[in-house]
Amino acid sequence: MPKRIVVELEDINMVYHTLENETLAIKNLSLQMHEGEIIGIVGPSGCGKSTLLSLISGLIKPTSGRVIVNGELVTKPLRNIGYMFQKDQLFDWRNILNNVTIGLQIQGKLNEQTLLEAKELLKSYGLEEFMYSYPYQLSGGMRQRVALIRTLLLKPEILLLDEPFSALDYQTRLAISDEVGLILRENKKTAILVTHDIAEAISLCDRIIIMSKRPGTIKDNIEINLSCNEKKTPIKLREAPEFRHYFNKIWKELDIHVQ
Ligand code: ADP
Ligand code: MG
Repeated sequence: MPKRIVVELEDINMVYHTLENETLAIKNLSLQMHEGEIIGIVGPSGCGKSTLLSLISGLIKPTSGRVIVNGELVTKPLRNIGYMFQKDQLFDWRNILNNVTIGLQIQGKLNEQTLLEAKELLKSYGLEEFMYSYPYQLSGGMRQRVALIRTLLLKPEILLLDEPFSALDYQTRLAISDEVGLILRENKKTAILVTHDIAEAISLCDRIIIMSKRPGTIKDNIEINLSCNEKKTPIKLREAPEFRHYFNKIWKELDIHVQ
């Protein structure tokens, strides 16, 4: 059975107006996302990647074209969408438990049951002993994990990840992206991951969209199929024989020049 379409972008154009000028950020972009799919988005800085995520979440409206989520036209910010950014946006004055429950609290969903879920998630992601610590006491990787737990507790149907690992050092980034990849698969989340890291995108995603420089259009759409005999963790998948082929292809298409 073909998978259900969760997100549909129909011929989107997005123009930003400022006092001085107008910027065509996205041009004639169409895209469909299926249930449970993890899509990677790569493209030069300023090509409209973050704009694309804001459009899907309903935070901004396209100048023309339509955004459809679960068969309905998006006209206002959606609730069933979780966001994760480069900066973890934890509140320094709240302990870790109170940081992960803030979304629930705001939505009026904090109760005995959800509090228990929060504690369980902290436990399963190795943060039990830090429940009553404060953000400054945690490493960058742990803080990102806290941000992810906070997002997952709201049980979003779609996750939008905007370069969530790019502020982390290489080792931590590898470990945490591996973990997040597994968590997304376990929870069968539909997700979009914007990243600068080609290897990260290949190891985590089912499909990679390459965007052109501004105005952002879709330059290529690459299905990723990696063979791996062991458990398919993102780190193991980097050793798959096809990995290099995808890497070289995407690298060439991105056409990165050292200035
Ligand atoms: P990316 O995430 O790929 O780096 P963005 O989506 O943030 O790109 O931005 C795409 C283009 O739109 C850039 O040229 C940026 O300067 C412009 N832009 C983004 N947000 C705004 C805004 N609120 N007002 C005006 N221009 C904007
Ligand atoms: Mg961006």
